[in-house]
Amino acid sequence: MTIMSIEGFLREIGEFLREDQIVTDREYLSHFAYDATERQYMPQTALLPENAEEVSRIMRCSNDHDVPVTPQGGRTGLSGGALPVEGGAVMSFTRLNRIIEIDEENMFATVEPGVISNDLQIELARKGLFFPPDPSSTVDSTLGGNVAENAGYTRAVKYGVTRDYVRGLEAVLPGGEAITLGGKTVKNVAGYDLISLLVGSEGTLAVITKMIFRLLPRPRVRRTIIAYLDDLVSAADLIVAVFRSGIIPCAMELMDNIAINTVADHLGAPLARDAAALVLIEIDGQSEGETHREALEIAALCRGSGGVTYTALATDDAEAERFWMFRREVLPSLKALKKDHIEADVVVPRYSLPFLVKFIRGLEHSDAIKIATYGHAGDGNLHVTILHRRRNFAELDEAYRLLEVIYRETVNMGGSLTGEHGVGLTVMDYLPLQMRGETIPLMKRVKAAFDPKGLLNPGKIFR
Ligand SMILES: Cc1cc2nc3c(=O)[nH]c(=O)nc-3n(C[C@H](O)[C@H](O)[C@H](O)COP(=O)(O)OP(=O)(O)OC[C@H]3O[C@@H](n4cnc5c(N)ncnc54)[C@H](O)[C@@H]3O)c2cc1C
Repeated sequence: MTIMSIEGFLREIGEFLREDQIVTDREYLSHFAYDATERQYMPQTALLPENAEEVSRIMRCSNDHDVPVTPQGGRTGLSGGALPVEGGAVMSFTRLNRIIEIDEENMFATVEPGVISNDLQIELARKGLFFPPDPSSTVDSTLGGNVAENAGYTRAVKYGVTRDYVRGLEAVLPGGEAITLGGKTVKNVAGYDLISLLVGSEGTLAVITKMIFRLLPRPRVRRTIIAYLDDLVSAADLIVAVFRSGIIPCAMELMDNIAINTVADHLGAPLARDAAALVLIEIDGQSEGETHREALEIAALCRGSGGVTYTALATDDAEAERFWMFRREVLPSLKALKKDHIEADVVVPRYSLPFLVKFIRGLEHSDAIKIATYGHAGDGNLHVTILHRRRNFAELDEAYRLLEVIYRETVNMGGSLTGEHGVGLTVMDYLPLQMRGETIPLMKRVKAAFDPKGLLNPGKIFR
């Protein structure tokens, strides 16, 4: 077993980083100890590199002194990926945050990892360009974090996930060597697809220092439809009917009755509290006439669908924004309940999603426990929040029992334990439910090939 030497590490780091790039003060350091899971692990230092060369030198020092390094973006992660569970250093990208280039001719953006997602969105909107991956955490999450998690978002149903837009990467390996992959080309099949491997690797294989994203023309028109249903199975039928219509919506979201009521309470908003499900559907396109016609067709389809009690097509952008706010406010509303909670991010084949919601609704549990479900219905991706009272260990045990039952049912339905939030720390112990045989050992060999000493973001994905 190697012994880390933090003093020697910091001495060497001090030779090339300024004092204001090295955090050791405990109070300031505590800001780097948590993420959106609300778990806390205190690092011994936080480092704020300003360029890729400094990242390389930090990783060389990590290797020389056996000090673990955990990359951190906006710390909005919901699986604990950015938490320094084994102490050592966290590497924050708050100062590696430049939009280097927006190449309008070739339709590519080149950015550093610390750029806040929404900042790129604003810049691209000014130029009529579009980078679809835009998670709901857009004002706090970083593009580096989104790439490391292969983040999803509401429009993934039409546009695909973050991985589908990454065409080039610069990264630093745990030993400090820099690598360049891909570039500004639409196609590239030279050698193994290491870009795809690094995207979604949760900061465990390499530190990403630069990204090249493919861009699209910005859709000019959007139309949003809200529908309430009095039964969950009808929601499954509605989802299938929409896809069979030949129109691909750019978003299709589901909220169950508990999610509806939690948002209604939190916002004081007039949602249909008795509904079993709320479905939001968005259509986008370049032509006003065509997009509007498609939206009318989907609205008519909703009205004619069994179990649908109410359908409305937003009359203008302000109303569409109000519909979207209901969906965006689910997680903040649940967190505002001030209970402890466990979150799952399961994904099943699209049609099975409402059946999974129904299965969860049917689970027996004590009255003190509440389970809210909502998510990306078009992707079959469900966010499950199990709320229990703070510091009540019997309820905590029950919550974990329910979580495992939900995971097992997800796997039985041919699904996956995480659709977009990653394995990180929180899903790690359950991964063997989904992956059998040689899969996890093979993944461990990949990790060892990149990081033989296990110093980059240790204690994540698998034990
Ligand atoms: C309110 C809310 C809404 C959310 N909505 C969505 C959503 O719609 N879709 C979705 O997919 N997720 C969502 N999330 C989860 C989270 O926002 C995403 O996982 C996001 O991509 C994390 O980005 P981050 O910058 O906060 O990364 P962090 O949480 O800081 O880190 C995440 C992982 O990335 C690694 N990492 C960060 N930067 C680098 C780098 N430069 N090189 C290598 N590894 C790196 C870290 O080590 C860690 O493993 C939401 C979270 C919240 C709190």
